[in-house]
Amino acid sequence: MVHSDEFTVGWICAISTELTAAQSFLDEKYDSVTNVSQGDYNNYTLGQIASHNVVMTVLPDGEHGTAAAAVVAVTMLNKFPNIRIGLMVGIAGGAPSKNHDIRLGDVVVSYPLDGRGGVLQYDFGKTIQNQAFQITRFLDPPPFLLRSAVSALMANYESSGHDIKRTIEKIIEQTPRLREKYQRPPLSSDILYRSAIIHPTDSENPCLELCGVDPSRTIRREPRDNDYEDDPAIHYGVIASAKRVMKDAQIRDKLAAEKNVLCFEMEAAGLMNLFPCLVIRGICDYSDTHKNKQWQGYAAMTAAAYAKDLLSLMPSVQIAAVQPSKEDFASMAGTKPGEAASGRPGGMRCYLTVPPTVCVLHVVEVETELMPMSM
Ligand SMILES: [Zn+2]
Repeated sequence: MVHSDEFTVGWICAISTELTAAQSFLDEKYDSVTNVSQGDYNNYTLGQIASHNVVMTVLPDGEHGTAAAAVVAVTMLNKFPNIRIGLMVGIAGGAPSKNHDIRLGDVVVSYPLDGRGGVLQYDFGKTIQNQAFQITRFLDPPPFLLRSAVSALMANYESSGHDIKRTIEKIIEQTPRLREKYQRPPLSSDILYRSAIIHPTDSENPCLELCGVDPSRTIRREPRDNDYEDDPAIHYGVIASAKRVMKDAQIRDKLAAEKNVLCFEMEAAGLMNLFPCLVIRGICDYSDTHKNKQWQGYAAMTAAAYAKDLLSLMPSVQIAAVQPSKEDFASMAGTKPGEAASGRPGGMRCYLTVPPTVCVLHVVEVETELMPMSM
């Protein structure tokens, strides 16, 4: 039995499909937690990846969004006080553009750009009369240790490529019941429609049948060269997060052009300023009206495969040497609603009311000006 103090990596999923994918990458699965704390409604999966003890949890069914993710993260940190780093691993809607050839199954990693954190909360900002909505919030960047590991893995992939596709195939060979939902769908189903083409809402028939593949309606992309291009590709940059599902190709394109957004999801903004966290997202659709679930399983697998590669190159002693995230967190204890927690840019504030076993989470949104991210 591994004690809760021995877990250093916290891995959060938003939906059960992502958790299933994540569990399939564990090198060893431990017994589940038996001592449940008061107020802890999380369900934990415990196990080992490389030399790390990893605890995984998932948002309750039907709960999405930044606040739900914050509550789950806080509760997990209370239960596992030595979690040093956090991973938010799952699926997202892609924002392909001229600069970023994003395809289904690709992976997007939150990474600071132009001195700003890698997660943009695009529904947080200012509405001013006669002016366009102003987004004012980038969140804390991933911690130094994680960014350093991302850079090292980036270099490895660049020189030697990766083995994500084959790794997933091996897992599915060993666990055939995953095949139907988690194997790579046919490439013919990866269709990017032009932004003006809207999926009909009055029919349940599949997209291929209703919207077709006519070149006047779709954007043609050359097949990847398997000798020189990684497939799936890994993209690094801004992940847009908000309490809303993005199904609008024109807003998607605008945010991609103006803010360099690579994908859209609904949880990361609730986490980034709470505990050190890297967001890893597999692309399962294109954030437009053609959104469907066909690629969700495979996209969850590619994101989890990347997360495992990342953990595999991080020595456990290095992670153990990082200041526990709970200390950051505990430093906020006692902060009153509306007050800024020390050392953090404005925005969503979370603080604990002690004792920590009775985890009372307060989420307070404070208007903030965009400011350089602190390390
Ligand atoms: Zn369609």
